[in-house]
Amino acid sequence: MARVLIIGCGGVASVAIHKCCQNSEVFDEIMIASRTVSKCDALKEKLSSKTKTKISTAKVDADKVDEVIALINDYKPDAVLNLALPYQDLTIMDACVACKVPYIDTANYEAEDTNDPKWRAVYEKRCKELGFSAYFDYSWQWAYMDRFKEAGITGILGTGFDPGVTSVFTAYALKHYFDEIHTIDILDCNGGDHGYPFATNFNPEINLREVSAPGSYWEDGHWIEIPAMSIKREYDFEGVGMKDMYLLHHEEIESLAKNIPGVKRIRFFMTFGQSYLTHMKCLENVGMLSTTPIEFEGHKIVPIQFLKALLPDPASLGPRTVGKTNIGCIYTGIKGGQQKSIYIYNVCDHQECYKEVESQAISYTTGVPAMIGTMMVVTGLWNRPGVYTVEEFDPDPYMEALNKWGLPWKVVENPVLVD
Ligand code: NDP
Repeated sequence: MARVLIIGCGGVASVAIHKCCQNSEVFDEIMIASRTVSKCDALKEKLSSKTKTKISTAKVDADKVDEVIALINDYKPDAVLNLALPYQDLTIMDACVACKVPYIDTANYEAEDTNDPKWRAVYEKRCKELGFSAYFDYSWQWAYMDRFKEAGITGILGTGFDPGVTSVFTAYALKHYFDEIHTIDILDCNGGDHGYPFATNFNPEINLREVSAPGSYWEDGHWIEIPAMSIKREYDFEGVGMKDMYLLHHEEIESLAKNIPGVKRIRFFMTFGQSYLTHMKCLENVGMLSTTPIEFEGHKIVPIQFLKALLPDPASLGPRTVGKTNIGCIYTGIKGGQQKSIYIYNVCDHQECYKEVESQAISYTTGVPAMIGTMMVVTGLWNRPGVYTVEEFDPDPYMEALNKWGLPWKVVENPVLVD
């Protein structure tokens, strides 16, 4: 039925590709295109005999708009699913506009070089105006609204788990459980153990930049920024148990604040063990998280990229990770004049994921929604020219698809609240 170009062939892409291949009725043809084509070929080799989906591969440098345009013109996909890095969002969006092809991604734009003076001027203005200092925000991609409308194409921003499923949970809560949502607490718990003293579950550079940055939350119409890891709570997660969690800045807070009328507070918490935090602080203190290139024995190296080369590849964690993830949202608000609260969440088992698609649950919980978001677009269920986040569409078919494709969810009324 649909032919989709998937850009990137890392941890998340591998799961999304497995899922597309399980869903051949919708995805009858896919092309896997990435910087290192051998990874695409290896995945094709592994999957081709087990699926009706016809797989092709290509090499592309998605930093180069012309290369992406040439590939789209050659393959003529019905949609492009961007599972490369947030650094490539804008170049791939440019190519989609030029070729009039729908665009889907899982993470919002982030500049690779945060010392670029042109980018920095815009960033510093935004920090002052909005009050949060994360390197990523939606303004860069929302700026494509008119171009996507003029091209008549849909752009779906952030269809991973968080952002993605957490935002769809919110649209679902609003549609079926509340007249008004007043508070949203997004809780991202990874109870998995990979046995290494330190490793990240997805791209280390993106992960460590996110986690080492100041935290922030939305309250009463504005952002409140706090030092990194300075708000801590404990929560008892189904399938995992009691865990420490810390308030972080997270991208869906920005879009939910814009799209959920009457919301008064939105916070995001992620669980971390003490060993992870101690390693991260130490690496930060010695400069290993820096993105600024340094001279080393006649070469220019970027410390965080060098660190990435030393750390275990997230894709290699699958066989050794045991335990579960539990990600969801607690909502409070009113229905029919009565106060109410609900918790919507998914529990996912690392080893079950590995058995099914040879990946751990972090890639799984992102790759499955990436496939589902793309399915919403290519089947025409979500079709609106412009650039949107997932809470702006009907959540029901997406929620149904989560149950069907491996991420079943639960709704609990009157849950234990965070505070
Ligand atoms: P990986 O580092 O495992 O994979 C990234 C892939 O992109 C690699 O195959 C890499 O190629 C490729 N790539 C990088 N640069 C380019 C380029 N210039 N041109 C073409 N291909 C390129 O990352 P993950 O799979 O862990 O993450 C993928 C995306 O998912 C990221 O944007 C991440 O932020 C997002 N994410 C979203 C989550 C959510 O819940 N919303 C959660 C987790 C991740 P190569 O093999 O050559 O390095």
